[in-house]
Amino acid sequence: MNSNFERAGPAVGLISLGCPKALVDSEQILTGLKQQGYRLVNDHAEADLVVVNTCGFIDSAKAESLEAIGDAMAANGHVLVTGCMGARPEEIAAIHPKVLGITGPHQAEAVLGAVNQHLPRPHDPYLDLVPPGGLKLTPGHYAYLKISEGCNHRCRFCIIPAMRGDLVSRPIGMVLKEAEQLVERGVRELLVISQDTSAYGVDTRYQTDYWQGREIQTRLYDLARELGQLDAWIRMHYVYPYPHVDRIIPLMAEGLILPYLDIPFQHASPRILKAMRRPASAENTLERIRAWREICPHLVIRSTFIVGFPGETEKDFEQLLDWLDEAQLERVGCFKYSPVAGAAANELSNPVPESVKELRWHRFMQHQQGISQARLARRVGQLEPVIVDSVDGEIAIARSYGDAPEIDGSVIVDDCGGVQPGDFIDVEIHGHDSYDLFARNLTL
Ligand code: SF4
Repeated sequence: MNSNFERAGPAVGLISLGCPKALVDSEQILTGLKQQGYRLVNDHAEADLVVVNTCGFIDSAKAESLEAIGDAMAANGHVLVTGCMGARPEEIAAIHPKVLGITGPHQAEAVLGAVNQHLPRPHDPYLDLVPPGGLKLTPGHYAYLKISEGCNHRCRFCIIPAMRGDLVSRPIGMVLKEAEQLVERGVRELLVISQDTSAYGVDTRYQTDYWQGREIQTRLYDLARELGQLDAWIRMHYVYPYPHVDRIIPLMAEGLILPYLDIPFQHASPRILKAMRRPASAENTLERIRAWREICPHLVIRSTFIVGFPGETEKDFEQLLDWLDEAQLERVGCFKYSPVAGAAANELSNPVPESVKELRWHRFMQHQQGISQARLARRVGQLEPVIVDSVDGEIAIARSYGDAPEIDGSVIVDDCGGVQPGDFIDVEIHGHDSYDLFARNLTL
C-alpha cells in the first residue's frame, strides 16, 4: 500500500505490507521520518530511498514481499527492508543482496537510524507539520491502537513469536495518551490490536502507571475502562476467552466500549486445540459465551477458524460444526490449513489431504453462512447508530458496532445526501443479505 505523501526535503518512499500490526510500525516510521523533515513520496522514481515493510506470515506473503523489494530495487536501487520477513535476513539477502539494510519487525527506531545513515536528515525538520499521535495510514475517522508487541504463546502453526519475540506491553499511560491525541485529531473509532490483547500487562506484572493524576494498572480491564471515557468507539481485537475477560463485558453492556469481541478460536475440538497449542484451549468457551450474552445480549463475536489441521478427523470436524451451532457467532472467517515455513506444525504427521480440506472448508462456510444470516436477521427493525466510511450520492457505506473495518460486513444506508465519512448517523435496519445490513438514514 502506498500512502498520501507531500512535497519538500530529501524524499523517502514506503511500501507497507501485512497486517494491522505492521501498519502501525509503518505509521511510526512515517511519523519519525516526517518529524525529521523528510519528504514522503508515493513514486519510487521520485524517492531518494525506499523503505519496504514486509510480511512473512505465510509463503504467499513472503513472495509478495520479495516482489515488492524487487520492484523497489528496479525502480530506485536504494532500498531498506524491515518488518516480519526481516527476522530472517538471509532469505532476503539471498535474493536481493544489494539492499542497503535489513531490520526485523517493530524496529522503527532502527529503520530511522538506517535512513539517517544513507540519506542524511535535512536541517529544517518541519516539526510543526506532524500532528500529535503521529501519522496514520488509515482513513481519518478510525485508527489502530497497538497496545503490545510479540506473544508468549507458541501455537504450532504460527511463526509470529519467532519473528516478533515474547510479549512486550506498552505502559498504559503511553497508550492512553496516544488514544487521547488521536481522538483530539478527529478519530472516531479506535481499534485495539496486539497479538493477544487479553495478555496485556502480563509481562510487566500489571505495572502501575499514571493517567490524569491517578494510579492505574497496565491491564485489559483498566485499559478498556479508561478508553471508554473517550469520545470514540472502542473496538477490541485478538482477545482470548480467559476468565478475566469476563470483567470487560459489563463495560460493553454499559456502552463504554463496543459490544464486539474478535476472538480467534481457530477450532473447537479439544484434541485439535491441544495439538495446535492454542491459548485458553482448556476453557469452557461455550459456557463463557453464554454467560457473556446474558450480561450483554447484543454482543457480536467475530472469529477465525482453520480446517484441515494435521490429524483433524471427520469426528473433530463435526465437533467444530456442532460447536458453531451452539456458539452462534455473528462474524466468522475460515482458512484451509497450509504449512508455513519454520512452523512447528510442519513436523506433525497425518496431514489432511487437500481434497478433504477443500470439502471441509465448503461445508464449514455453508454451515456458518446460515448462522451468520440468522444473526443479522435478528437486527432487522432495530434503530442503531452507524459510522460512515464513504458516501456515493445518496448511498453511504457505513458500519455498525458489529462491523470492524476491512474484515466484517457493512451497513448500506439510503437517504445520505450531505453525510460525510466519519459521521455517526442513526439508522433503521430494514434488510440484510449474507454479510451486509441495509438501512435508512433517520438523521435527516
Ligand atoms: S496467540 Fe498463537 S497464533 Fe497468535 S501470535 Fe501468539 S503464537 Fe501466534
